[in-house]
Amino acid sequence: MNRLTQRNHFPFRNFSLEIILFMKRTLRFLFLSILLCLSFSCGTKQEQPKTAMQDSTQQQNSTQVSRKDDLVKWLDSLETQYEQACFAMGIANWNSYSKEGAADLDGAKKKFANIFLNEDSRKIIQEWKSKITPNVDPTLSRRMEMWNRCFIGGAIYADSEIAALENKLQKAITDFQFTLDGKPITRAQVQTQLKTEKNAKRRQQLWLTTSQLSEKVKADLIALVKLRNEKAKQFGFPNYYSLSLYLNAIDEVWLLKTLNELTDQTDEMFQKFVKMTKKSTAVKKVGPWDYDFALRDAVSLSDKYFPKDSVFQTIHKLENAIGFPTDSLPIKEVVKDIPYGGLSLALNIPKDSRFLVNPATGKGFYQVAFHEYGHSLQAVLTKDSIPILKGYEWIPGAQCGAFAEGMADVHGEFTDNELWLETYTNATDNELQNYMAGRWLPTLYRLRSLLKNFFIEYEMYKNPDENIYSPGRIDSIEHAMFKKYLLVDLDSVSVAKKLETIPSTFAASIWYTSYPCYYQNYILAAMIATQTHEALNNKFGEEIISNPNISAWLIKSFYEQGELIEWSEKIREATGKGLETGAYLRKLGAIK
Ligand SMILES: [Zn+2]
Repeated sequence: MNRLTQRNHFPFRNFSLEIILFMKRTLRFLFLSILLCLSFSCGTKQEQPKTAMQDSTQQQNSTQVSRKDDLVKWLDSLETQYEQACFAMGIANWNSYSKEGAADLDGAKKKFANIFLNEDSRKIIQEWKSKITPNVDPTLSRRMEMWNRCFIGGAIYADSEIAALENKLQKAITDFQFTLDGKPITRAQVQTQLKTEKNAKRRQQLWLTTSQLSEKVKADLIALVKLRNEKAKQFGFPNYYSLSLYLNAIDEVWLLKTLNELTDQTDEMFQKFVKMTKKSTAVKKVGPWDYDFALRDAVSLSDKYFPKDSVFQTIHKLENAIGFPTDSLPIKEVVKDIPYGGLSLALNIPKDSRFLVNPATGKGFYQVAFHEYGHSLQAVLTKDSIPILKGYEWIPGAQCGAFAEGMADVHGEFTDNELWLETYTNATDNELQNYMAGRWLPTLYRLRSLLKNFFIEYEMYKNPDENIYSPGRIDSIEHAMFKKYLLVDLDSVSVAKKLETIPSTFAASIWYTSYPCYYQNYILAAMIATQTHEALNNKFGEEIISNPNISAWLIKSFYEQGELIEWSEKIREATGKGLETGAYLRKLGAIK
């Protein structure tokens, strides 16, 4: 009682107790119901993001964009939706490989479909793109350019038929169980054993485990190629590869000229390597399964110089030395068996980037880990500005894959730098000299393998008419590309008597499914990384692994502006010339 009265600032002093109690109960009841409906409304607010999306979609649909200010407001809300979808796709992918949670790939893709299958939004972009020119508003004009590309790429990416087949294939490839002699074997084990197996027949068996998967999924892959081509033609492109290069701002004619130049400039060197392989393996005819073994013998530094457990520590040591504050960067690093050498995912640019590295061994393992860290650095050091200019990787057109791989390779390239090897490994001078003299070989083999993979895919998409999709034809394309770029004739190289023709292996590559039209990016990336390292050498000389100003130069030249500037312009600005083959061919020793 006393308590009541203490609070007795009540205005109702002269009413009877019951009435007071009744009024109190009524008031309490009223109060509770107000509370209840308030909490209910918060609940709804909680759900508001979804309704906000619906609202924004309805708003998108209903918004009349009649002035530039309306356009900016409309784009801002569209980009909020876009970034939510990017985050959902990032986390779904992360979970599908890290197994840390639910991997709702389909749900994430639906979020993108909400945006990119919206015809009203596409019309607004198309209508306003020509009106907003760079001299009117350079940033808005660039946003329009990126949205225009993304509405083309997004329409194919979010296409339900294509998406369903992609997800089905990605799952089939990721979860496929390879066997050898009836026992399970992993991709990493096959790769490691191909390097050490002295028996050629056994190496062929190891190499052919890949065809178990390729033969199983190739019909679906070909169906996917057909669907993508049909969509590309709807947008006025001759085929999906040409469309994809347009979305990455890569000139198709320039690309073919560049790749043919790299082929011509390295043909002689590769013939020399084939001879070396024949000699070191004592086989009559060199098969694709002999190269990893030959490379192991010729030029490798011992795996003991690259201790698995201290890979991340070693990365941080170098990156700190060149000025990156690794301890405060939101980058997560994990070692895990995945269908890639490594995988980096920018979940929320610039606040959250994560990567996984396949538990391989030796220098190759370090190079991949440094590469993936390079991806993460670009993500967390991109300015936190306009979502469509942040360079998320999900929608074709939102970034240039070649440039992203180039930025990652700039860091992978340090593991091939003589000064770095001297400082960060215990290899003897003699071993280092031997390695530097022979390092061209693994680089050359990687280039020729990438050229083979690129041209198989490029030919798969080319001149899309009915009969190009016959499995037999794609098999023959694969054989032709092995012959041209790896100088092995699959029709006559089998060392296993009973195996007449070598079955397909191409469809086992998850790239053709999940990262279509991507292989040229690794070749261009190597050109970007070597051209950038030549610029770094000119700028920082001997301090290339120790000058803390290097990070500032990389951030300013390449990272912070995101997609505001076209990738090819960034390279021209930073290295003083457009991207060309010189630095890469010099590293290979093909030219002086
Ligand atoms: Zn990469």
